[in-house]
Amino acid sequence: MDLRALPSVDRLLAQADALVAAHGRALATQALRAELAAIRQDRPHPLPDAGAILKAAARALDAAARSALRPVLNLTGTVLHTNLGRAVLADHAIAAALDAMRAPAALEFDLGSGGRGERDSHLRGLLCELTGAEDATVVNNNAAAVLIVLNTLARGREAVLSRGELIEIGGAFRMPAIMEQAGCTLREVGTTNRTHPRDYREAIGPDTALLMKVHTSNYRIEGFTAEVPAPDLARIAHDAGLPLVNDLGSGTLVDLRSWGLAPEPTVAEAVAEGADVVTFSGDKLLGGPQAGFIVGRRDIIAAINKNPLKRALRLDKIRIAATEATLRLYRDPDTLAERLPTLRLLSRPEAEIRAQAERLAPQVAQALGCAAAVVPCASQIGSGALPTDTIPSAGLALTPAPEALAARLRSLKTPIIGRIHDGALILDLRCLPDDAALLNALA
Ligand SMILES: *Cc1c(COP(=O)(O)O)cnc(C)c1O
Repeated sequence: MDLRALPSVDRLLAQADALVAAHGRALATQALRAELAAIRQDRPHPLPDAGAILKAAARALDAAARSALRPVLNLTGTVLHTNLGRAVLADHAIAAALDAMRAPAALEFDLGSGGRGERDSHLRGLLCELTGAEDATVVNNNAAAVLIVLNTLARGREAVLSRGELIEIGGAFRMPAIMEQAGCTLREVGTTNRTHPRDYREAIGPDTALLMKVHTSNYRIEGFTAEVPAPDLARIAHDAGLPLVNDLGSGTLVDLRSWGLAPEPTVAEAVAEGADVVTFSGDKLLGGPQAGFIVGRRDIIAAINKNPLKRALRLDKIRIAATEATLRLYRDPDTLAERLPTLRLLSRPEAEIRAQAERLAPQVAQALGCAAAVVPCASQIGSGALPTDTIPSAGLALTPAPEALAARLRSLKTPIIGRIHDGALILDLRCLPDDAALLNALA
């Protein structure tokens, strides 16, 4: 075999206008050199011609140009999948974020007076209106919200929390670790399954800074249990002149029962029950971008805003714009499920999803050359919300060789993420935007 028959890089480049236009001269040259080097090493027979080398270089460059952080089809059945980026944003929120990205925005500029404005002012009014709280502020995520609340109110002192609420939220968020980072001492009271009012009362001493309640969103303690309801806990705290902090986690702003879902405590309820501070996430049930909301007593919010950590944990204009647009949707509950993807997906009727599965089964089977059976599914809200309440759904069970099928679907240009269960690859169709999205991904 005569490797001298291979075209030179310069000759290839002369025919590589499309490649250069798409990726630039430097990357195109590099890719062609790499192809030639691989051919010299592997000595394939027959040697590829210039056209084949250009095509191989284009494939390599296209693959390298594709971000690993790219859109996927979430057919896991978990609507708010933390590893897949949690909430999908509403069109209104996307449009607001784009506007904020394209041009300067009056982020900390008061258009009325022409003087300096406040970053949080864009969200404060809406948060107060939707939660009934006196005041509100916002930080990077709910973990940050808990951190700054504890650091502001309890640094060098004690925070009292029931042993039944010492949660871990996955990743590194564990309540005891957050307390340590916030500089406060965790004072555990009660037992895993039962905590009584007297447990809190007896724990309160000169070093106590606050009582804390954490919504045990991602697990449930059942059987012989007792917890102190928030209104009673608020009374115990206030009798001792202390604030009650309630970390709701996936706090929702609406009564989910209106959309046929199991109830989650709303932020307004937590405020009305007497908590002095309530924290919750922006990208869980609320359906917005990642953010951590802190609502509650005006003097406490003012102290939090003065904490130097606030500057380190603040939101940028893009997320403030998207968050504001998301919160605005809540002012009209009648159109909320239409406009907010999280609620729209959570409330999709099972019958509609099953009909979609029946429509798609033959086409998916044909595209993949496998068997596709319509099966009932149990979707989850995800992100720790209502872990034991599943939502009836439907999907496709693909067989045989589910592991190999799963790998193949992950390698598509728009990867399809399912879940392996009982020897089949299950695609829960609850979060499929429309039939075409799946068929195009498979094409
Ligand atoms: C999810 C959750 C958190 C952490 O919120 P992030 O927005 O993920 O930072 C904290 N507390 C509770 C109770 C949660 O459910």
